[in-house]
Amino acid sequence: MQLSVKYYLNAFNHLLFPHCCAICGADYIQLHDFLCVKCIHQLPLTRFLNLPDNPVEKIFAGRIKIHAAGAQYHFTKQSMMQHLLVLLKYKNNKASGLFLGNQLGHALSTADRFQSVDYIVPLPLHPKKEYIRGYNQATIIGEGIQQVWNKPLLKHCIIRLINTVTQTHENRSTRWQNMEGIFHVTQPELLRNKHVLLIDDVVTTGASLEACGAAILQIPGTTLSIASVAYTI
Ligand SMILES: [Zn+2]
Repeated sequence: MQLSVKYYLNAFNHLLFPHCCAICGADYIQLHDFLCVKCIHQLPLTRFLNLPDNPVEKIFAGRIKIHAAGAQYHFTKQSMMQHLLVLLKYKNNKASGLFLGNQLGHALSTADRFQSVDYIVPLPLHPKKEYIRGYNQATIIGEGIQQVWNKPLLKHCIIRLINTVTQTHENRSTRWQNMEGIFHVTQPELLRNKHVLLIDDVVTTGASLEACGAAILQIPGTTLSIASVAYTI
């Protein structure tokens, strides 16, 4: 079999710029791929996105009005998923976030419940935290989603004024009092009558997403959905 010029160029490129799977280190992947096919298939899919009353939706049930919510993967400690999120959040590895965003974006683009989304909005970080990290990881995930799903990404329509959020074990009225004023929508007219998809890296208690979602829902006519890369209880 005759090998193509492209094959030799790829091989040459690989010698000059060694490129390996970010999890197992396998070096037989394409230049633009982040993981090898074997590792991608081992990531723990939830299949929540098209499933009503899934565990992520139950977090928000009775707290704020959600059109649809879901997460793409299960999160467990010492797992591949934890490794990818640590790369994104603490190792300045934006490629990990773009990869995870691509995976989430592909799933969202084929989930019926999310087709009416007008805007993708990353959960804002407090400016001080974003300055220290250098970026908002949810924004990187949003950029990854946008690469594969043709929806506008609004990066600056909401700001976070307060860094902390109350824990869910506090009673409901206390929590609401403490959540007020954490997030501020800077461009409410832009979101009026729109279906907003709020995104984040991991959903745990959902307290920050709930606070931000409540701020969005104060704008007349808005519909709120939530999607995250991973979910953990
Ligand atoms: Zn691999």
